[in-house]
Amino acid sequence: MTRVVVVGAGITGAAAAYELTRHHGVDVEIREASSRVGGVIATSPFAGLDAVDEGADAFLLRSPAAAELATAVGLGTAGDGLVSPTGASAAIWVDGLHPLPTGLMLGVPTAPVALARTGLFGPLGIVRAAGDLVRRHEPRDHDSIGRWARHRFGNQVHDRLVDALVGSIYAADCDRFSLAAVPQLADLAAAGRSATLTARRRRRGAAPIDGPIFATPSTGMQSLVDATIAAAVADGARLTTSAPVRYLERSARGGYLIDGEPVDAVVLATPARIAAGIVAGVAAEPAELLSSVATADVIMVTLALPAGSLPTACHGRSGYLVPKSVQRRVTAVSFASHKWAHWQPRDGSEILRVSIGRDGAPVDDLDDAAATDVVLAEVGAHIGFNPAPTEVRVTRWMGAFPQYRPHHHQLVDAVQRGCPTGIAVAGSSYNGIGIPACVADGRRAAREVLSACGVVPVP
Ligand SMILES: Cc1cc2nc3c(=O)[nH]c(=O)nc-3n(C[C@H](O)[C@H](O)[C@H](O)COP(=O)(O)OP(=O)(O)OC[C@H]3O[C@@H](n4cnc5c(N)ncnc54)[C@H](O)[C@@H]3O)c2cc1C
Repeated sequence: MTRVVVVGAGITGAAAAYELTRHHGVDVEIREASSRVGGVIATSPFAGLDAVDEGADAFLLRSPAAAELATAVGLGTAGDGLVSPTGASAAIWVDGLHPLPTGLMLGVPTAPVALARTGLFGPLGIVRAAGDLVRRHEPRDHDSIGRWARHRFGNQVHDRLVDALVGSIYAADCDRFSLAAVPQLADLAAAGRSATLTARRRRRGAAPIDGPIFATPSTGMQSLVDATIAAAVADGARLTTSAPVRYLERSARGGYLIDGEPVDAVVLATPARIAAGIVAGVAAEPAELLSSVATADVIMVTLALPAGSLPTACHGRSGYLVPKSVQRRVTAVSFASHKWAHWQPRDGSEILRVSIGRDGAPVDDLDDAAATDVVLAEVGAHIGFNPAPTEVRVTRWMGAFPQYRPHHHQLVDAVQRGCPTGIAVAGSSYNGIGIPACVADGRRAAREVLSACGVVPVP
């Protein structure tokens, strides 16, 4: 038997363990530091509903890894077990709510004229953005989303669209976030002169999307991790919780010792800084690189408001983003019970999920009560009402958002090259923070360590 330990039972570790148990002759153990599985994915009862997510609430269907896993572990398929948002549209808040321009590709406009219809941009901002159509291609050795987007479209489009959208996904400051690490934008930047025209061509060339873009298990995102781990355990894996792994060392008999116990291979599915401490004894240089991966903190405040609280300007909207130029603490607001039909409480209450904190805007000065006060004051001022919540839940996601600094890919390549045979790192710190990327990375790492141990992976 080849003995493999998966360290960490977030979605990446769960996917790695699931992949490992599909192959014969592999003894799999999952060790999790916390008393629960899921990592930064968590779902709990709220406002009379059984399952309202505290973190991630959806995964992309375009990258199929998460939906395929959900189906494989018995959570159903899109439309049958997996549910999708209602279709309410997001807005940008700049002295009021403005619709997002139509045809955006991760904040990149596909037609300057669409910018004019939003009321978000002055004439100079629109003219500057239209300059992208003729502007020369800038040689790109900087690898910064902000620098690229400002050059192509000017500061307003960068601030109000590109940085607002990309920043909300990664809790990032796009001026110091890797362009290469966001493939959709990297593709536009690499393709040629005008990002607007390239984005328009990409949209026209893409297969028509019939059906929703996002989905989630109707039982909450935690059930994706639970069901994946249950499937691995049913196939022989062992799960140990409240069991933080501390170190790895080489075994005199070949293979490794994990906290002193022999093991043939290890998948490290923890945040990079934790992986750094664990591998330091067997891979000093990768450990140093891993310890340099920065993270950002976010506090998610979930509110239940009495029925009919939201002003009519919010109706039909899924929420709004607050660009940095007008941000105080709140970065994004999801009108969660408008976004998701299965999150509509029976008594008609409205659920809001409000995010504070991002790279460059720490939140560690706010305790739960202060975070709630900030959210109530800012959201009330943004949309002009006096929120009087009947229930409040505060979830602190400290260090949960890895920050891909410029040239992040080089760091990841060096770590992967430098890890000794049979040791693989995987997860949100490396090749994408979205759940599909984490699932794919966990499964890749599992197959990689199996090959290293001479196990021929089943196709
Ligand atoms: C608020 C929020 C909203 C998000 N929204 C979305 C969304 O809507 N859609 C989307 O696709 N993505 C979203 N994401 C991103 C996505 O949820 C994460 O990138 C992904 O869940 C990370 O999974 P992971 O397994 O790589 O890491 P983690 O979830 O961090 O798991 C790592 C695990 O390792 C464990 N661990 C740590 N140290 C040790 C140790 N020494 N020994 C053993 N175990 C250890 C931890 O306890 C943890 O369980 C969101 C993230 C957050 C925080």
